[in-house]
Amino acid sequence: MGRYRLRCLQCNRIVQDHYTLGCHDNALLRTEYAESRLTLKNLPGIWKFHDWLPVSGSMGIGAAPVTYRSEGLAQELGLHNLYISFSGYLPERGAFIKTCSFKELESPATLQRSIEHGNKTFVVSSAGNTARAFAQTASEAGLPLVIVIPVSCMYRLWITNEVPDQVRVIAVDGDYYDAIMLGDRIGSIDGFRSEGGARNVARRDGMGIVMLDAVLRMKTLPKHYFQAIGSGTGGIAAWEASIRLIRDGRFGDLMPRLHLAQSAPFAPIFNAWAGNRRVISPEDVPDKSMIKETYTDILSNRNPPYGIRGGVADALAETRGMVYAIENDEARDAKRMFEDAEGVDILRPAAIAVAALCRAVDTNSVDPDDMILLNITGGGLSRLKEDYSPNHLSADLVIEADARSDRILDEIMEVL
Ligand SMILES: *Cc1c(COP(=O)(O)O)cnc(C)c1O
Ligand SMILES: [Zn+2]
Repeated sequence: MGRYRLRCLQCNRIVQDHYTLGCHDNALLRTEYAESRLTLKNLPGIWKFHDWLPVSGSMGIGAAPVTYRSEGLAQELGLHNLYISFSGYLPERGAFIKTCSFKELESPATLQRSIEHGNKTFVVSSAGNTARAFAQTASEAGLPLVIVIPVSCMYRLWITNEVPDQVRVIAVDGDYYDAIMLGDRIGSIDGFRSEGGARNVARRDGMGIVMLDAVLRMKTLPKHYFQAIGSGTGGIAAWEASIRLIRDGRFGDLMPRLHLAQSAPFAPIFNAWAGNRRVISPEDVPDKSMIKETYTDILSNRNPPYGIRGGVADALAETRGMVYAIENDEARDAKRMFEDAEGVDILRPAAIAVAALCRAVDTNSVDPDDMILLNITGGGLSRLKEDYSPNHLSADLVIEADARSDRILDEIMEVL
């Protein structure tokens, strides 16, 4: 079977990988690796997990997360086995992710997979952190890239490298969902390729590294996994990595319970799960004007991969999962508590996960002795600025969200 193969989670067929994002039905594909036992490779960063990445080669670029046993926060919360997976910049703990979020676990594997399936210009839509990660990786690897991003998120678009000429930025006067729609249109033009979001196995298996790294450190699967979600792709990835780790056999057979947290009042996955719905219904999706009421717009995906086969609803069902809608004051308190207790700044979405953990402790959803993994999906930005000055990217073109005509694509082609 080679290193890996893809299986459709709906019709169960094996699908040839030509950078394939799905078969004829609407389900997710999942990677099946020839190596059922994970052996770390003597390669830098994330590439030591090469056994379980859907690629043949490795570009050698891309830092791994670090997992460490919490002392400060654990003590605050009265927990005895709290582990933190930190995706960000904190050299003191061996964390060197310079765009400061776990999106940089996805970008190297995804770009490597893309290179291996033809020479195309990669198109990524983002609310900021994904764009930053792909811009950083593409610039280090010298690859062409098109970024589609809401104007309101442009301030998040920087890298620590020189801004390279082969990266183009299209800013949309709209929200994240508008950027995704436009990105898909550009990605369908000849010579371009959309990243595919949750449908891209390289993105999910890249994010799954959080669980792999943590389990190797903890020597066992955790009983609980906490993460802030917008699309929930990281939650799916944690579940899929756990399936592989259980099959590996060395880390126990307990499937971690997913505790996924959204930012109220924009919490469609929370609403659907609380209403016992396996697909998101229109009533679950708040008006987009609610996004500005949230603690962080990073988590405001209007169309997450929830009801799709192999998606967030399946992940929650298979892990007896829980979903939280975190209020702004809870998030603020959690951020301060984490930063004081652990001595490093975190991004706002990560504070949403910390707040969910606080709630789980308050409601006895976790026991003090449970093995718990808290995914700090982003942090160390203040710490980074002591060592680097970020270079901001500027937009090559700004367009209206509801501009539908093909003239827009012509305009875009002129700057690409
Ligand atoms: C993207 C992002 C999330 C949410 O990830 P999902 O794709 O919903 O799993 C959480 N935190 C940070 C910092 C992010 O950038
Ligand atoms: Zn199928």
